[in-house]
Amino acid sequence: MASGDIAYETIIGLEVHAQLLTASKMFCGCSADYAAAPPNTHVCPVCMALPGALPVINRLAVEKTIRAGLALNCTIAGHTLFARKNYHYADLPKGYQISQYELPLCHSGWLDIEAEGAARRVGIARAHLEEDTGKLTHMGEAAGDTRLSAGRGAATLVDLNRAGIPLLEIVTEPDLRSPEEARAYLVKLQQILRYLGVSSGDMEKGAMRCEANVSIRPVGQTQFGTKVEVKNLNSFRSVKLALEYEVARQIAVLEAGGRVVQVTMGWDEEHGRTVVQRSKESADDYRYFPEPDLPPLEINPAWVAELRAALPELPDARAARFAAVYALDERDAALLAGERATADYFEATAAALGGTAPAARTAANWITGELFRLMKAAGVEIEQVQVGPAALADLLGRVERGEINANSGKRVLGQMFETGQPAGRIIDELGLAQVSDADALAAAVDAVLARYPDEVAKYRAGKESVLGWLMGQVMRETRGKGNPALVRALLAKALEG
Ligand code: ADP
Ligand code: ZN
Ligand code: MG
Repeated sequence: MASGDIAYETIIGLEVHAQLLTASKMFCGCSADYAAAPPNTHVCPVCMALPGALPVINRLAVEKTIRAGLALNCTIAGHTLFARKNYHYADLPKGYQISQYELPLCHSGWLDIEAEGAARRVGIARAHLEEDTGKLTHMGEAAGDTRLSAGRGAATLVDLNRAGIPLLEIVTEPDLRSPEEARAYLVKLQQILRYLGVSSGDMEKGAMRCEANVSIRPVGQTQFGTKVEVKNLNSFRSVKLALEYEVARQIAVLEAGGRVVQVTMGWDEEHGRTVVQRSKESADDYRYFPEPDLPPLEINPAWVAELRAALPELPDARAARFAAVYALDERDAALLAGERATADYFEATAAALGGTAPAARTAANWITGELFRLMKAAGVEIEQVQVGPAALADLLGRVERGEINANSGKRVLGQMFETGQPAGRIIDELGLAQVSDADALAAAVDAVLARYPDEVAKYRAGKESVLGWLMGQVMRETRGKGNPALVRALLAKALEG
């Protein structure tokens, strides 16, 4: 980033909250599957904070946090504490959130990313467990809302279904150096959380949320500049846009002789700008202290070792294996390995096709090409595709064996995708089986040569480019079903004769 005479360096640190995929909430037995539930139906004395109700730690949430921590190269604490983070807000019935402060479950890890062609190791300061808050609806947000009786004026409704959903908070060191790196980090983190089955990572649905801290400093200065925190970032795109905006704003402030003030800002998506929410003078004083209702959590190292051994192959390792074992190009390998379901689909297809490197490359070409194109056009994910790996391998085998040509293969795949029918039936129905009958093809060749004597003469006079055109005419004569290799051989022979 440069402006005027001074070049600036951008410093970014990210705080991500991801809802954990557990059946029940963090400290009670209420269902955590609240998306479609009517307001305040997944609640109990614990998550409504009724006096005397006591929390119980959800073991699966601890397990998923440890698995995420291990995948992020963290140290897993043997002894860890829950803490009360005190503040008052209508979505927080207890008046405090149970979180972790000192002694988080996971700390001191890293995640390697790549952005704009450069690699960077991003330090993970900590990954800890806490609980989500409830959800507020400010009346008047939805026009015609009838939930308030007339004349009561403004009000806010609270839904506590989300209160107590387990949240994993992952905090980076200030190691990111551009908005694009921040985006790349989030994309990769989401991939990993999904691979582990730890979180859906769905930003649009609020299952993964991001706060970005950003500062700038003159290049060469070792001391960090004053940071600003940006909230309300609901997509990868808004993270990048908000950071770009904020970097430019901070540079303008310094260039005008001012200084950056430490504030919390919100991203205003509609107007594409950051807006101050609160200043540091009104900074939160959370008065953290150890949660008296929960015991310290002792983590058995044997359990951690077990979880480490059971970690799945993660996207980077899988992409590297695809590239090494099947000689896929790096881009395709990364594309196929990025999502677990896609990677599984690819490997199953390759295996059904024989499992060799050439078979895998054929599968990779068709999946990243034709299949992804069909999926994109139909707006579906790999899980919803009606063509299973075995059915795709069956089709690709037919193309490889020359039963149909590649163009017909694409047509057949389109039909399979739409109808879920097997390749064989569609080939029969469309009459696409490739003609490899030498007599039939020789007749087509003769017919074409008889029809175009001038072109034949040109070819024989040395204009070799005519061959391709004649080839096209014969394929047309066979309505695209001629075996191209055989047609070419027969045509060459006939032209010599
Ligand atoms: P705070 O005490 O204000 O919460 P932390 O040290 O806990 O600050 O850091 C919060 C987040 O801000 C972390 O992700 C961290 O990497 C990032 N951060 C810290 N200092 C800076 C800075 N000068 N510029 C950008 N990000 C920073
Ligand atoms: Zn509950
Ligand atoms: Mg902090």
